[in-house]
Amino acid sequence: MVKFDNVTKSYGTLTVLDSLNLEIAPNEKVAIIGPSGSGKTTVLRMLMTLERINDGVIYVDGDPLTHMQKNGKLVPADERYLRKVRGNIGMVFQHFNLFPHMSAMKNCMEAPIHVLGLSKKEAAERAAELLDMVGLGDKKDQYPSQLSGGQQQRVAIARALAMRPKVMLFDEVTSALDPELVGEVLNVIRKLGTEHNLTMLMVTHQMGFAREFADRVCFFYGGKIAEAGKPDEIFNEPKEERTRQFLSAVL
Ligand code: ADP
Repeated sequence: MVKFDNVTKSYGTLTVLDSLNLEIAPNEKVAIIGPSGSGKTTVLRMLMTLERINDGVIYVDGDPLTHMQKNGKLVPADERYLRKVRGNIGMVFQHFNLFPHMSAMKNCMEAPIHVLGLSKKEAAERAAELLDMVGLGDKKDQYPSQLSGGQQQRVAIARALAMRPKVMLFDEVTSALDPELVGEVLNVIRKLGTEHNLTMLMVTHQMGFAREFADRVCFFYGGKIAEAGKPDEIFNEPKEERTRQFLSAVL
C-alpha cells in the first residue's frame, strides 16, 4: 500500500531521511519509534506531501505519490496532481488542529464537501456515523473549546476518516494529552484497527501500545531504519545496540 523507494530528504546540508526503503502492506499497522530528531515525523510529512523529497519516489497503492507520469517518464508531481493524490492519506497530528469556529460535525463535513464534492446531506450522514464510531455521538454540535483534549483528538480522527483515506498517519497523537485521556484515544485507534481495513503508520512514544497494536515496529536512528521487526522481536530481543540503548532509556 505504501512504498518508500530510496527516499532522501535534506534541509540544506542536513540529511534527515537517508535513502529510506520501507514497504507497508495493505491493512498493516506499523509503529515508528526512535529518539528525537531521528526523522520519524519527517516520514509522515513526506507521505502527506507537505514538502518535496530530494531523491527517490514514494508510492501509494501502486501509484507514484511524489511523482507523476509524463510522456512515459516519472517527473516530480505538480500541485494539481498532489491535490488529487493527497486525499488518499489521512493524518492526525499531536495538536488536534481542529477548526475552532466549527462544531464537531462541521469539522468532519468541511473537506468531504469542498474536496470530495459530497452534498451537505451525504457529508452530514458520514460525519454523524464517524462521530458515533469514535464515541462522540452526543457531542456532535459542540465546538472544540467545549471538548476535552481526548474528545478533540477523537474528532480529529473522525475528520481524517471522513475523507475515506487508504492510509492513516498518526503523529504522536497522545503526546499533548493529560495522562487520563490517553486511553480513550488509543481505544479508538485500536477499534479502527480491528473493525476497519486500514493501513496505519504511527509515530508513537507509547511503547506499550506499539507493542500490543503494531504488526511491525521500525526503530529509526539518524534518518534510517536501524532495526525493524515484529514487536516481540524489537522489544524482547533487539539485535542492535542502539535499539537496546533507546529501549532501556524509555521503558
Ligand atoms: P523526530 O520526529 O524523529 O523527532 P523529525 O523528523 O521531526 O524528527 O526531524 C528530523 C531532523 O530534521 C531534526 O534534526 C530536525 O531538526 C530536522 N528538521 C525537521 N524539519 C526541519 C525543517 N523544516 N528545517 C530544517 N530542519 C528540519
